[in-house]
Amino acid sequence: MRLLPRALAANVVKLALRERVLSGYPIDKPCDIYRLVAEHVTLQFIDVPTLEGMYLEDADLRRICVCAVRPSGRQRLTSAHEFGHLLMGHGTRLDLIEEARNQADENSIEETLANVFAYHILMPARAVHTGFTLRHLDPKRPTPREVYAVANWLGVGYTTLVQHMRFSLELLTSDLQAKLLRKNLKSLKSAIVGRETAHDVFELDALWNDCTLHTEIGDYVLGVGTGEYRILSPAGPGVHRVSACGSSKVRLESGATLQVHAARSNYVGFYDYRYLEEAN
Ligand SMILES: [Zn+2]
Repeated sequence: MRLLPRALAANVVKLALRERVLSGYPIDKPCDIYRLVAEHVTLQFIDVPTLEGMYLEDADLRRICVCAVRPSGRQRLTSAHEFGHLLMGHGTRLDLIEEARNQADENSIEETLANVFAYHILMPARAVHTGFTLRHLDPKRPTPREVYAVANWLGVGYTTLVQHMRFSLELLTSDLQAKLLRKNLKSLKSAIVGRETAHDVFELDALWNDCTLHTEIGDYVLGVGTGEYRILSPAGPGVHRVSACGSSKVRLESGATLQVHAARSNYVGFYDYRYLEEAN
């Protein structure tokens, strides 16, 4: 990623934090980026595997499109990135997946600005600190499981949070960064849930109170209290599996409550219909 002049980067960070606060998300809490984006512009999930996402703008249309077949944290980062292009007036953008990108795209100043915006609207320094310290964890010495839990809470991918903690927030040494990046995520998720899985595994604790969790069918959630939920099925002691599309207010063992949205895997269509319950 191209290095930006410090003042320019600081202005983009300020823009991201301002947008967050104006939308009602304190800088020490997670931000529901899909809701925030969908309040400003049409948000759509598309089946174009060579694109991370795109921002379309002409006289009578403004739309953000996100690739439907990318990991969930990457999809949220892309939504934030495209929203950055919109707010900064960059005009229509097509963002290819990493493998299809060339050096020129990579080094474009507007691409770097959109990345800085995305990182800071999703992971402000205060929210990262809070995510660790209120869980009584040390952000300078996290284990892979702790990073994964905080990444889920912030709604970003594991690797994205590790890189942000190393390069933007300077919390991690290069040795610890390398060690965290070597962790096999599939085996981490399987170990947490006690069975083989490549799906996301959310450990829901009291800090999730009043948050929104976006899941896909097949994901696992831990920490749900007693009660029956249409979108969740019991899957072992303390474990539920997301089993149907829809939205439910869920009460946790800790007494906290949160909104859980469940979508079909690789959902294609408008965000507004993503969590519609399916007729049997
Ligand atoms: Zn872009």
